[in-house]
Amino acid sequence: MKLHSLRFCFLCALCASAVNAFSLDREAFTFTNYDLNVRVEPEQQRLGVRGKITLRNDSATSQKIAVLQISSSLDWRSIKAGGKQLQFVSQPYTSDIDHTGALSEAVVTLLEAVPPKASVDLEIAYEGVIVLDATRLTRVGTPETTAHSADWDQISAKFTAVRGAGYVAWYPIATEAADISESTNLFDVLGRWKAREAGSPMHLQIAVSSDDEANAPEFLVNATTCPTAHEAQQQFVADCTYRSLGSVVPSLVVANYEVLERSGIAVHFLRGHDAAAANYADAAEKVIPVIGEWFGAPRSKAETADLADPNAAPFESGPLLLTPLTSADPKLAGLAAAHQLTHAAFSSPRPWINEGLAHFAQALYLEHQAGRRAALDYMGLHRSGLSLIEKQTRPPRSEDELSRPLVNTYDEELSRSKAMYAWWMLRDMLGDQALKKALASYHPNGDNEPSYMQRLIQAQTQRDLEWFFDDWVYRDRGLPDFKVASAFTRKTLPEGYMLTITVTNLGTAGAEVPLTVKFAGGVITKRLVVRGKSNGVIRVEVPKPPEEIVVNDGSVPESDTANNVFKIEAGDAAK
Ligand SMILES: [Zn+2]
Repeated sequence: MKLHSLRFCFLCALCASAVNAFSLDREAFTFTNYDLNVRVEPEQQRLGVRGKITLRNDSATSQKIAVLQISSSLDWRSIKAGGKQLQFVSQPYTSDIDHTGALSEAVVTLLEAVPPKASVDLEIAYEGVIVLDATRLTRVGTPETTAHSADWDQISAKFTAVRGAGYVAWYPIATEAADISESTNLFDVLGRWKAREAGSPMHLQIAVSSDDEANAPEFLVNATTCPTAHEAQQQFVADCTYRSLGSVVPSLVVANYEVLERSGIAVHFLRGHDAAAANYADAAEKVIPVIGEWFGAPRSKAETADLADPNAAPFESGPLLLTPLTSADPKLAGLAAAHQLTHAAFSSPRPWINEGLAHFAQALYLEHQAGRRAALDYMGLHRSGLSLIEKQTRPPRSEDELSRPLVNTYDEELSRSKAMYAWWMLRDMLGDQALKKALASYHPNGDNEPSYMQRLIQAQTQRDLEWFFDDWVYRDRGLPDFKVASAFTRKTLPEGYMLTITVTNLGTAGAEVPLTVKFAGGVITKRLVVRGKSNGVIRVEVPKPPEEIVVNDGSVPESDTANNVFKIEAGDAAK
């Protein structure tokens, strides 16, 4: 008996070490193509998938093992290659990339080792349920209601909304474990996944069963093309294609929506939310001209869909926005619509362009409504987050974390906030017309090199922008920190003053920064380029004795804004 148990344990240890001994490289393969047949059964809360995926070995060594991960609430049924069943071990794998906080991981032994750069096709089948589950948040102490307002994904008879990687692994992925309790860890893992999938298309044939033919629900998918779902034998069928998974999280929604159709936007709302839906549609219609002027005509219709929980966290992916439609505030609606409509008009595989411009558009919208100050205040709300990134005192864990250039970052904070500022600074430097022309000449398919955008902008201006792109886009040089080092006033004839100002930039990123001189009865604003770790000097003519200098009006993000005001004492003026 004793021997038996000993032997049993020995086998256990052997199995465990066998899996470990392979030292699984979970991120060796890029999923270069998905062709999936998806069946959704809202009444049973079930999802069933069959299909084909293509994996390319992007590691430096041959791979005999492939790892496929799906949500822990789904189960692997079959994995084949060339019609032959493959051996695989299915094991739970703790990772916060899925709302359940775990994945069903299949460790698949391939028929033969796949050399670097070679691909393998796999036929797969899996199924299970997708129910409301926020385990990844509740297990780190998030109260249940708050957690469910963030992780609202589920399939259910009343309401179905399921988002992809980062929320629900409803299609196979493969990443190292993500840990939501470690500050940027989940975003780093997701960022690596999105970067790997940047060029990968997905084709979905989706069937949603519906018992109630008289009261058929609406069906929304955020794909590049998705010919209108048609109904056949108590089910909807849709044939959807995503051109690339880099900037889109495949998501689907099934709900009893009513629709408000306007030019450029459709608002899908739940019963009783008529007023908020109309508010949103009205706001969107007002924003359309501003967006059109900057980003061109919409290439697809923007779709806004309601979430039942009024506290649900909004989610956007491409021109689809899921948000609780409860607010009657036209300003909030206008802000959201400006962002969404920008995505419908302009898209880029690079987050700093795609998301950066959509946030820049929100600032443009506010400026249009309420002036430059309102726009700068809005951008200022983003700056606190940015300064936090810059001030991270914890030593970086990896090279990636040490330096995160905008050009290829998938970091949300950087691609949204820092990029928004970069676009605003470019616009201040070059003027509206030059930047609009550059954006009009942008083609996502032509964006194959980091310097593509710079070349388009450079074609519209005589100015050398290499230093700017170097400091803000190609490299992560942090933020500038401006300070007036000295100001010297000289009385000029007949009536006036010449002020010589030296501005020091203590940071390592340069910028063209506005400088405002205040005097009795007025202000004069000039712009000055101050490169990183250097000084800039400017002379300003003022009609009355200058009283105060303010460097930076908030249009350039800075690590320290406490040192931006310089008082000029009355006796300072040299006679
Ligand atoms: Zn966006």
